[in-house]
Amino acid sequence: RGKRAFIAGVADDNGYGWAIAKSLAAAGAEIIVGTWVPALNIFESSLRRGKFDESRVLPDGSLMEITKIYPMDAVYDSPEDVPEDVKTNKRYAGTSKWTVQELVESVKQDFGSIDILVHSLANGPEVSKPLLETSRYGYLAAISASSYSYVSLLKHFVPIMNPGGSSISLTYIASERIIPGYGGGMSSAKAALESDTRVMAFEAGRKHKIRVNAISAGPLRSRAAKAIGFIDMMIDYSLANAPLQKELSAEEVGNTAAFLASPLASAITGAVVYVDNGLNAMGVGV
Ligand code: NAD
Repeated sequence: RGKRAFIAGVADDNGYGWAIAKSLAAAGAEIIVGTWVPALNIFESSLRRGKFDESRVLPDGSLMEITKIYPMDAVYDSPEDVPEDVKTNKRYAGTSKWTVQELVESVKQDFGSIDILVHSLANGPEVSKPLLETSRYGYLAAISASSYSYVSLLKHFVPIMNPGGSSISLTYIASERIIPGYGGGMSSAKAALESDTRVMAFEAGRKHKIRVNAISAGPLRSRAAKAIGFIDMMIDYSLANAPLQKELSAEEVGNTAAFLASPLASAITGAVVYVDNGLNAMGVGV
């Protein structure tokens, strides 16, 4: 049978999650996704109304099918963690079972197992503030949504992942080089995500034969990136300075994810793979 992939962090057709879903679907995988609760209604209705049909087209001409869309909020592990104001918020009250533990229980009930886990989500409420102006709340919220969310997802999914499976997350070079504008503790969150990639590669590799890798992606005009506010500048900077002077397409990241999830990458784990037109290799702008 084909492989089954769960992709967390798909809410439109502009981001890396969507592109990864498409590349995995093109390679024959069954696609199930997790969508942030507040974005769920609009994503499902747009999909139903055919708004994404053009971007659903796969190389063979068929349309990508998403077998099931699960509501999720990756900052909550179980119902006991959800504060009253969120529980009663009308955007949350309409759906249920969206904490990480409940989500994985539902996937287990519906499908039994998965082969591929993709974490393509991040959030930092103070991302536009410099680190030295970031509050403790903002910093911890960035880490919770962007780093621990991955530890929690893999921790809960790993028992239902088939041996030989693969897990992938998306990171950004701001973890290791200074990128002014990527603030609010988001640079710290990406550093944690990359370190956790190595440690979880060891733990999940030894215990479950699961590979764990991260893709350090170049700039893409996604919804999340537009919210940060400097994405056009970063795209221009890359065009001017990277070894490959072309705009990065989400598909190039999707294809790398498909490679990393495939047996072609059977000896690659604990790695952070740059998919950025080579910008990371430059020492100065030119
Ligand atoms: P995106 O907006 O497509 O994806 C982010 C997703 O996270 C959204 O669907 C949002 O609904 C979801 N989300 C936010 N908080 C959540 C929560 N608590 N629970 C569940 N889902 C939640 O944007 P993107 O840029 O494609 O981001 C995907 C990943 O790629 C992120 O990890 C991001 O940091 C990384 N990345 C992006 C760029 C870029 O330039 N766009 C560069 C490098 C890395």
